[in-house]
Formats: sequence, structure tokens, C-alpha cells
Amino acid sequence: MVDYIIVGIGLGGIAFCEQLEKNNKSFIVFDDNSQQSSNVAGGMYNPVILKRFTEVWKAKEQLELLDHFYKTIEEKISEKINYKIPVLRRFVSVEEQNMWFEASDKPSLQPFISTQLVKNNNNCIDAPLGYGEVLHTGRVDTDLLQQSYTEYLNNGEKLRKERFEYSLLKANDGFLGYKDIMARHIVFCEGFGLKGNPYFNYLPLNGTKGELLEIEAPGLKLDFVLKSSVFIIPLKNDLYKIGATYKWKDKSNTPTEESRKELEEKLRTFFKCNYKVVNHVAGIRPTVTDRKPLIGKHPKYKNNYVLNGLGSRGVMIAPYVAQKLFDYIERGTLLDTEIDIARFQKKWKG
Ligand SMILES: Cc1cc2nc3c(=O)[nH]c(=O)nc-3n(C[C@H](O)[C@H](O)[C@H](O)COP(=O)(O)OP(=O)(O)OC[C@H]3O[C@@H](n4cnc5c(N)ncnc54)[C@H](O)[C@@H]3O)c2cc1C
Repeated sequence: MVDYIIVGIGLGGIAFCEQLEKNNKSFIVFDDNSQQSSNVAGGMYNPVILKRFTEVWKAKEQLELLDHFYKTIEEKISEKINYKIPVLRRFVSVEEQNMWFEASDKPSLQPFISTQLVKNNNNCIDAPLGYGEVLHTGRVDTDLLQQSYTEYLNNGEKLRKERFEYSLLKANDGFLGYKDIMARHIVFCEGFGLKGNPYFNYLPLNGTKGELLEIEAPGLKLDFVLKSSVFIIPLKNDLYKIGATYKWKDKSNTPTEESRKELEEKLRTFFKCNYKVVNHVAGIRPTVTDRKPLIGKHPKYKNNYVLNGLGSRGVMIAPYVAQKLFDYIERGTLLDTEIDIARFQKKWKG
């Protein structure tokens, strides 16, 4: 008998497990490694949408939780995963520079945008118009996080590395039964795997495939994340992530030659040094039509909950929505209508 069954141990599942541990709830997690989004992610967090120079939804609230959340995990898994690193947006025109400084005047963006123009002094990069710097940014090593957290749960006998078979879930007198387990609640955190979930596959989860390259570039020596037509994200030992692509049709986790070409072509528009591609990965971001998370209770099965729709910003959003969902289930706190799946009630056919 446990309080919760959790399906999926990506960023969403991890964030919900953290709520359960903090509140002394018992749980068991299922994961079959069928989705890759969390382990291939760039891991960046930044409070500004760098295409439109607008604030990320609930950026302040999400950032308030972030440091403490990842620090608690670092202590549990004895690994460093959260790295503070500046994000610099490369300007491609004077108009863009002007838009940036206009944005920095907006009260909602003031805390997140530096008003200093940063000059380029890296010989590998072509950036004659310089950069704008976003504040309160960083990178979480999501691959290491997922691997170590999985091991941590496994050591505590809280993980089953197997597919969750939806047809075997039974409701009995207010409790749930699944194989040899009885549980009070179940929370589905399957990322794009939600498509195979008969309880919640009515929700409009589109899924956007993303691919990233890892390159070795000994001449680059970059100590910030550079955002241009692609991101360059520094790792260790002259390694960098280059990404990412956005594709809406292909829903496989397989890297493609077409995307590799696209990324390299974009990189070459501003990057002038030699490099070697050493890895190439792909995953499906759990994106939603209205770009907001999918959080809440099933319209009919009252013990079944969903935590999904983290889109392209799981690192920042997951701790925030996990707390909201936990408070909703255990404390009866209302969910924000923007994230509550009740907004899609009409799509549920019963
Ligand atoms: C190329 C790329 C780059 C990205 N870069 C960033 C970034 O820089 N910053 C950022 O914040 N976000 C980024 N993202 C987005 C981020 O990865 C997602 O928001 C996040 O990982 C989603 O987490 P999740 O837990 O909802 O889903 P997932 O990570 O997909 O996890 C779902 C888990 O459920 C398991 N599962 C599914 N179905 C079942 C089943 N039936 N039984 C058992 N287990 C099951 C899967 O195996 C998986 O482990 C990126 C994504 C991609 C693809």
C-alpha cells in the first residue's frame, strides 16, 4: 500500500517525487525509458523569451523555487547539476538592439534584462553588433539528474524499470489497484508518452521534436551560453551543445541527417572556428496547443492525475507545477485556470 503511483521519471516525475519526499508520502515510480526529452535537453533556464523579448509565464515565481529545488536534489544524489551561467543574445541588426533596450524598460522585464551592451571579444564568433545579457540564467545537467535520480529511487526500492500497463489499473473502493500495489492516487508524468494513456490522451498534447548536436571545439573557449539562430551551450572539456531544432511532424526519437545539416548550417552563419561533431540526440518536447502545462484531475476517475505539457521549459516549470499539483491534491488549493486541464473538459468524450 502506497500513497502514490508515479508514471514517468523525467523532469515532471522527478519534481513530483520531490514534493512527495518533502511531505513524507510513500510512492512507487514506473519508467520504461520510452521517452528521451529530459535526458537530451539543453537544460537551460532563462526568464526571457529570446525570440520576442517577452517574459516567460510566471518567470519570477518559477525562479524563486528553482535554486532550492535543485540544491536539495544535489545533496541527495551527491552530484552537481545546477550551473549558473550567463545567457547572451547575439544581435543581428540595429533594430534588434533597439527592441532589446526598449524591452529592458518594461517593468516586467527589468529584473531579467541587463541594460549594458556586451561587446564580442571571441575570435570564433562573428557578432559585430554585440550581445544583450539575460539575468538569472543557468543550466541544469538534466541527463545526469535523470540518471542519478533514477539510481537514487532504485536504491530506495521506489522504482520499477518497466512499462506501466494502463489496462491493469483498477479502481477499488476509493483505492487504486495495479498488479501487487494498492495506492491512494496515481500521477501520470509520461511526457509525450501521454499519447498512449487512455485516461488522458484526449488532451491536446502536440509534441515537438527537437535535436541537438554535441561538438568539440578546442578554439572556442566560451564561458557563456550564446543564443543566435542556434544556442551554443558550454559543457566541460571544450564540448558544447548546439541546438535545437523544432519539428512538428516526425514523432520519433531518432536523430536525422536533415536536422544535423540544419544545425550545422545555422551554426556556420556566425561561428568561424573548427569543430567536430561528437554526438547527436533527439527527443519529443511535450508541447501543448495553448503553450501552458497540463495539470489536474481526470474528469471521471478522481484518483487519477496528470502532470504534463512542460513544453520547451521543463527545467523551470516542473518544480512550480509539481508544487501546485501537490497542494491541489493534498490541501485542496485551487489550480490556476491557465494550467488546469479542466480548460479542455469539452474534449473529453466520456
Ligand atoms: C532537444 C531538446 C532540447 C531541450 N532543451 C531544453 C532546455 O534547454 N531547457 C528546458 O527547460 N527544457 C528543454 N527541453 C524540454 C524538456 O526536455 C521538457 O520540458 C521535459 O524534459 C519534459 O519532461 P517530462 O518529465 O514531462 O517528460 P519526459 O522527459 O519525456 O519524461 C517522461 C518519462 O515517462 C516515461 N514513460 C512514458 N510512458 C510510460 C509508460 N507507459 N510506462 C513507464 N514509463 C513511461 C518515459 O520513459 C520518460 O522517462 C528540451 C527538449 C528537447 C527535446
